[in-house]
Amino acid sequence: MMNFLMKSISSNPKDKIKLVTINGNLMPLKDAKVSITAPGLSYAALVFEGIRAYWNKEHKQLYIFRLDEHLKRFINSMKLLKFIDYPNLSSIKADILQNIQANNYQEDIYIRLQGYIDEWGEMAVRSPVSTSIVSYPRPRAIAFTEGKNFTISSWQRLDDNASPPRIKASANYLNSRLASIQAKESGYDGGIMLGPNGKVSEGPGGCIFLIRNGNLITPSITSGILESITRDSIIEIADTLKIKVQTRDVDRTELYIADEIFYCGTGQEIMPILSVDKMLAGDGTPGKTTKVLQSEFTEIVRGNNQIFKSWISPTYKK
Ligand code: PMP
Repeated sequence: MMNFLMKSISSNPKDKIKLVTINGNLMPLKDAKVSITAPGLSYAALVFEGIRAYWNKEHKQLYIFRLDEHLKRFINSMKLLKFIDYPNLSSIKADILQNIQANNYQEDIYIRLQGYIDEWGEMAVRSPVSTSIVSYPRPRAIAFTEGKNFTISSWQRLDDNASPPRIKASANYLNSRLASIQAKESGYDGGIMLGPNGKVSEGPGGCIFLIRNGNLITPSITSGILESITRDSIIEIADTLKIKVQTRDVDRTELYIADEIFYCGTGQEIMPILSVDKMLAGDGTPGKTTKVLQSEFTEIVRGNNQIFKSWISPTYKK
């Protein structure tokens, strides 16, 4: 009976998707089709953004976190992949708002925005560019509180001169996929990749911070990482909290002796890393500074912080 009940309450986020958007048109997911000849599929000519929006019960408002920064990065990704004739930032923004309003969410959600070369063509074709928006409810991960255990991956992080991680392109996630599966098959939750110079780069879907002697340390944006919006937010928040921040090369062995480590990104938000290669970070529980940053971040994203009010965009008209 219990089994039956568990099965009938689906936990697949796909089942919760209602209306999606393609090129500004709202439609049910089952009607949203892409041709098998589209270079977005055949040559991975696809860029994307993962964006979160947070429900504030008291304000009866859904706040999108750093929407303009996500859209700017999205446009930059298309520019770097030499897409042409793509929609401008304000029309994509209008499509996102329309999608959320049509779905009328009153809970935390995740928005996946994609831009891809549609129809058909060869590897280097530059248009037509289609956009798609898929949104669905996504509560905070349990790992936000509990943390995860990582390993150093034997897969090397991509390099700017080969397949630039700065471009949020689906093609780059081949590298992430290999590292992620390898870590899980080895009994870990995730893998941290080193760059070609042997220094710490990032995880498959998020950036790395460590704390040593009260300093918050993270690899610089030239270390083969995605220019993470969460990473940038944490650096700014730390500054207001008078926490010293160092963006610099990070050695693998620094992770083994760190007081605290956390993983960050839109999906993970700020997620404690309890150990790397079974070497405990501090005492192997979520650290003090990590928790301070988590609570400050939570207040900001939910619209309860005045200093960073410009980071959130209300979705519903009052
Ligand atoms: N690095 C990689 C490889 C990612 O996929 C992500 C998630 N988008 C991040 C970092 C974190 O970026 P952001 O904070 O902008 O979500």
